[in-house]
Amino acid sequence: MRLGGAARYVVEVESEDEVKKAWGFAAEKELPVYILGSGSNIIGRDGGFNGVILVNKIKGMGIAVPEENGMIDLYANSGELLDDFVTYGTQMGFSGMEALSAIPGTVGAAPVQNVGAYGQDISQTLISVRAYDDLLEEIVELPVYDLDLGYRHSIFNSGDGVGRYFITQITVRLKRKTLKPPFYNSLQKYLEDNKITDYSPESIRKAVRAVRESKLPDPAEIASSGSFFKNVYLKTPEEIKAAEGRGIPVWDGGKIPAGWLIEHAGLKGQVFHGMRVCDKASLVLINEDARSYADLDAARKEIIAIVRAKFGYTLEQEPMELGE
Ligand SMILES: Cc1cc2nc3c(=O)[nH]c(=O)nc-3n(C[C@H](O)[C@H](O)[C@H](O)COP(=O)(O)OP(=O)(O)OC[C@H]3O[C@@H](n4cnc5c(N)ncnc54)[C@H](O)[C@@H]3O)c2cc1C
Repeated sequence: MRLGGAARYVVEVESEDEVKKAWGFAAEKELPVYILGSGSNIIGRDGGFNGVILVNKIKGMGIAVPEENGMIDLYANSGELLDDFVTYGTQMGFSGMEALSAIPGTVGAAPVQNVGAYGQDISQTLISVRAYDDLLEEIVELPVYDLDLGYRHSIFNSGDGVGRYFITQITVRLKRKTLKPPFYNSLQKYLEDNKITDYSPESIRKAVRAVRESKLPDPAEIASSGSFFKNVYLKTPEEIKAAEGRGIPVWDGGKIPAGWLIEHAGLKGQVFHGMRVCDKASLVLINEDARSYADLDAARKEIIAIVRAKFGYTLEQEPMELGE
């Protein structure tokens, strides 16, 4: 979002050893640690961060277990870009991550909120995570079933696991197969409009990239955190019936797209305190000329209040926050 104050210390780490050392440095200074991938899902607060930021630069990827029965295990160190890892797997012809193409950020952040897009999320292919555990002060291997992965949720972003682990590597299992239609709405439309019937991992990767480029701002040029609000999940059949009765779309047995609510509250393209509701994707807030976190805070409160007044749902923010 390109907002927020300064950090007291910033340390770039290139290996598991350096993670341990940097964490020791923070402990010596009695300062908190914060882990940064590429910062695409973090918003800095105005007071800055009186602590040590560890910037992840641990590189490398390869084959963990060679192909057998049409399956392959690939590993990536956590400082690699997720999109490079997705490209690596799909270009070898393996399916499982192609819909995650062009999600900004590093491999290490992917399990944190269980990144997902166009019908896939990392939980579907992840088999394990390697991490430095600050509580045990050692490297641990965590199998996927210990990570409590759900929609934008894991042990790394909720409960006791927050701030405890520095993910250093992930391993995924991909399959030699081709996805079958129907695909997620906008992807399906793109494939039909362009008469694409090749659903190979590489073809889907290219299609996803094209759809994303047409809808989402490029974080290298325009300041945003991608989806700013989480979709609303209804829990009971009564809630679903009530929403549908009011003409509100409910997908996948309970999901109301937050972008639909924002758009139908009339907010698309509107600017609040320098923050614009993106014209192409209402779920995205763009920092046009906001000067501080306080501007963003005011914009967020107004948007939430307008959506609540119109539909009765309280939107929750997706990106994390850092600092005081
Ligand atoms: C234009 C745009 C589009 C986006 N589209 C999507 C999308 O389609 N789907 C989706 O799921 N997300 C999307 N996002 C959000 C973002 O891409 C993901 O959250 C991504 O995983 C963030 O990666 P990062 O390296 O930038 O993480 P950061 O923003 O640096 O960190 C995110 C969180 O993960 C923690 N973290 C980072 N690395 C590690 C590590 N090695 N170990 C432990 N904790 C760590 C951080 O402390 C922080 O809490 C989008 C963002 C933008 C800007």
